[in-house]
Amino acid sequence: MAEPIVQTSLFAYPTYDAMLEALKAENRNPVYSRGQNPTVEVLERKLAALEQGESCKCFGSGMAAVSAVFLGLLEAGDHILFVNHTYGPSVKLAKHLERFGISHDLLLDLEPGDVERAMRPNTKLVWLENPGTMLFRTLDLAAIADVARSHGVLTCLDNSWASPLYQKPIIHGVDIVVHSATKYIGGHSDVVAGAVISTARRMEKIFFGSYMLNGGILAPFDAWLLLRGLRTMPVRMQRHEADALRVAEYLRSRPDVRAVYHPAFGEPSASLTGYSGLFSFELASGGFDEVRRFINGLRRFRIGVSWGGIESLVISPNRGNNLAHLDEQRMPHALVRLSIGLEGADVLIEDIGSSLAAIAS
Ligand SMILES: *Cc1c(COP(=O)(O)O)cnc(C)c1O
Repeated sequence: MAEPIVQTSLFAYPTYDAMLEALKAENRNPVYSRGQNPTVEVLERKLAALEQGESCKCFGSGMAAVSAVFLGLLEAGDHILFVNHTYGPSVKLAKHLERFGISHDLLLDLEPGDVERAMRPNTKLVWLENPGTMLFRTLDLAAIADVARSHGVLTCLDNSWASPLYQKPIIHGVDIVVHSATKYIGGHSDVVAGAVISTARRMEKIFFGSYMLNGGILAPFDAWLLLRGLRTMPVRMQRHEADALRVAEYLRSRPDVRAVYHPAFGEPSASLTGYSGLFSFELASGGFDEVRRFINGLRRFRIGVSWGGIESLVISPNRGNNLAHLDEQRMPHALVRLSIGLEGADVLIEDIGSSLAAIAS
């Protein structure tokens, strides 16, 4: 019933001729586990099917997947346009690539037509998150994909938030999907992994142009953990969604909360068919000190980075020493991010209530 873990670095062939034949398509035949491994391949087929894409490659982290898209598809002189608030390290990687002649811009405030105006003659890639990171603003994927395509520009969407269950960007015209499988696909905070899904032709370019050469591969055992995660993803996502909505509604009802940033309360997004468990809110008053006291007052939420696992997590973008960065990113100082796990909404609401009461006293 469960897939075997093919824990081997290489695959021996009965004859030299058979090996030479296999080497002709190293992206399809198991030759060496830095290329193709049968356990990883099962996961790749499932993720491609879930995203309704032709082909998938899995990586040792979400960032390895992001790197593979940048390094596999871009050249010196190209420009990346980041639309919406996007995962910080993806933008940092683009900054790093400036030394290789790749430039980028950030587009945070979106009015219709902004994407087209922000594109440059050398824009090669539009990088999207829907909803955006930290403030969870939504986008019209089909409209952006149309504009990009009419200029011959590729679109790539980081779909970690929605998971392949609640958003399938490819059917809305997006060219490439990346995942941090560390989040909802793994779902248990015990594996770091990533994936890229696109057409077979583009994935072949990524396979030979960056995957095999950069070496950021997914190990067979980690692929097995993700296959196991996939088996419960639908029920986990339903509970994350329902409980996060209950906690978000509760926060919205509190006078000591200024705003709740959950995509259910923002512009409707045609491509989202459900919500995951990650959102943020803003305390009505205060800054770093109140954020710190609120986080320290929680008992059920664990304090930590990342998200998407079964244990609820809390963090803030405010680290007490980065106000200039928050202002530049147009992020409120009293912002708190919650990842709602599977403990049940009642205990989480009670926990939040007591911590809010404690900082007010
Ligand atoms: C975590 C994350 C990544 C990076 O993934 P890793 O698995 O940590 O390398 C990329 N994008 C988003 C939206 C993420 O949350």
